[in-house]
Amino acid sequence: MTKRLLATLLFLLFTLVVTWASVNKTRDWTLQQLHQQGSDELLQVITQLRNALGEYRYLPFLISQNTDVKALMLEPDANLSAEVSLYLEQTNLVAGSSSLFVIGEQGRPLAYSHWRDEQNFFLRSHQGQEYFTQAKAGHRGRQFSLNAEKQRPAYYLSSPIYDGTRFSGAAVVRIELESLVKKLRSFGTVLLSDAEGTLFFTTGPFKRFKPLSEQVTVTGTDLADGVKTSLWSQDTSNWLSRSVELDDLRWQVIVLNNTDVVDRNVRNASLFSFGGCLALGLLALLLRERQLKIRSQNETREALARNEAQQKAIINNAQVGLFLIDHKGVITFANEMALQQFTVSMSLVDHKPLTTLLAFEKSSPLSKGLSRLGKQGFAPLIGYESVGRRGDGTEFPIMISVRKMEYLGDRQFLVTVIDISRRKGLELQLQKANESLEHKVEERTQALQEAQDELVQAGKMAAIGRMSTAVVHELNQPLTAIRNYVAICRQMLQQPEMLSESLTEVDELTQRMAQITSQLKTFAYKKPEQMEQVSMQMAVQHALQLFKQRLADEQIQLQVDQPDDTVYILGDSARLEQVLVNLIKNALDAMSTVENKCLNIRIATDDNITLNVSDSGPGIDEELLPDLFEPFVTSKSIGDGLGLGLSIVRSIVRDLNGEIWAENLPQGGARFVVTLPKC
Ligand code: ADP
Repeated sequence: MTKRLLATLLFLLFTLVVTWASVNKTRDWTLQQLHQQGSDELLQVITQLRNALGEYRYLPFLISQNTDVKALMLEPDANLSAEVSLYLEQTNLVAGSSSLFVIGEQGRPLAYSHWRDEQNFFLRSHQGQEYFTQAKAGHRGRQFSLNAEKQRPAYYLSSPIYDGTRFSGAAVVRIELESLVKKLRSFGTVLLSDAEGTLFFTTGPFKRFKPLSEQVTVTGTDLADGVKTSLWSQDTSNWLSRSVELDDLRWQVIVLNNTDVVDRNVRNASLFSFGGCLALGLLALLLRERQLKIRSQNETREALARNEAQQKAIINNAQVGLFLIDHKGVITFANEMALQQFTVSMSLVDHKPLTTLLAFEKSSPLSKGLSRLGKQGFAPLIGYESVGRRGDGTEFPIMISVRKMEYLGDRQFLVTVIDISRRKGLELQLQKANESLEHKVEERTQALQEAQDELVQAGKMAAIGRMSTAVVHELNQPLTAIRNYVAICRQMLQQPEMLSESLTEVDELTQRMAQITSQLKTFAYKKPEQMEQVSMQMAVQHALQLFKQRLADEQIQLQVDQPDDTVYILGDSARLEQVLVNLIKNALDAMSTVENKCLNIRIATDDNITLNVSDSGPGIDEELLPDLFEPFVTSKSIGDGLGLGLSIVRSIVRDLNGEIWAENLPQGGARFVVTLPKC
């Protein structure tokens, strides 16, 4: 920006200097030209004057030599005077002078060319006139008379007339200035003044018979070539003057050249130089713009060439095959990779249809897509899997894409080819690996299934074993006792009163056996088909009823928290009561070893119904906790429990769509939590 401003300022300065110099030069040159012109004109004016005077130069002498004139000088006679006057009249007419006359030796006119008009001319003496005295002195007389009053300046030439050697008179020619300067009118501004500076002739705007010093202001000036000249000024007009004094005539001849041309030339020069500079500046700007444009074009061209080279390098180094095809599917370009993929040379595929490199069915989407190239319905084909045909005829799997080259119009298409042989091979390997893995998984699953079945079988067998041991043990004891009592009964058949006691024992033992088998029966119990509304409060009440005596005997503190409104579940009362009985019995059993016995039953409702049964016993054995609800898990000695109670409870709760879990309380004791859906 600053650079540009500086350049503009410099250019303006240059323009001003050039304009100033050219103005000065033009002024000097024009003044010199004017001066030269003035000199030429002055020379011409002088020549003209000289020539004009020269025409009359010999006329007085001619007249002086006339015999009649000479005779008249000797003897002035009226007749002769008339004759000579006639002669003078004719000569005057022929010579074109203003007038001719001859003067006697006393200075009196004796004959006159204009005798007809001016008779009083003869009365005037010319004794004192210069032209007479000079002639009388034997010279050729010449005199210029301004005659300012009559405003008729005239020039007189005289020649003495001799009678032998004696001066007898003078012949005089009068030439009015007007006839002398006639030809000077064709010049520009010419001024003639006398020795006193009185202007008597001018072709310019000056007043005659008035001193020049009163009419103009004259200032001296030096031209560039050192010549001194003067400038005349009058009002708004200015002239360059050139003058010379004619010694013989004592005339000042002045030629003036108007200096308007100087101003005009200066104006033109300033305009031309300023305009020229401006044009030069504009031309420079234009040239610079052009240069910049050319440079920019060159840069753009270079950038394009670089870009093109880059693109070519990218295309040739691309790891995918690239073809350029026209709207007929004919190959116009193929990159290195494409030629490698198809093991062909460019000359082999150049201007050949792309389809010669493809092995596909006519009905395939790729074939259809290629047939629509450059047509209305063409849609880009992206990532289409097909088969390529190499130069040697072998085939290989490819992934091909065909899309329009937008910036090349509708008629060029870019085909991208990726050799997917490796991927296909890997896919095949992967597929095989998958298949073998699936096979292995199936085998393993089958083996696991078998192992699990065996485990289940083993678990079942173990459970059956444990159950059998327990049942055998439980039943063996009363059976042995029964057998003993039967033996005792046989011995006591002789004492019938004692028999009754033993039979009672047998009866109790069989009841105990029935109880054992009843537990097994409950375990195998199926869920009832019919469900009904069961009151939780009622179930708790019924269950506690069964333990009423035991609660009292063992001094167990009972606390029951339940809502005032009856809470119902959907199920059957017998099974719900069995849940409660089992949980309460376990709690009472657990508290048998502790002093402070406290049983808490709480029913709460929110979204579900929650039943809490907690005690102040020693808590659940930590080892049992993970499998607490599994069948035959018990801490009780054989005969005291089968470990089926909680298993039965969980089974019933699940049948009622509920959940059960157990935990030990931080303050001691265990808590069983049962959640059941509300009815
Ligand atoms: P059984 O009572 O015949 O052993 P259960 O399935 O009813 O069978 O109980 C399994 C075991 O759970 C019990 O042997 C006992 O060790 C433990 N148990 C159950 N309830 C409680 C409880 N309230 N406090 C402590 N342990 C308990």
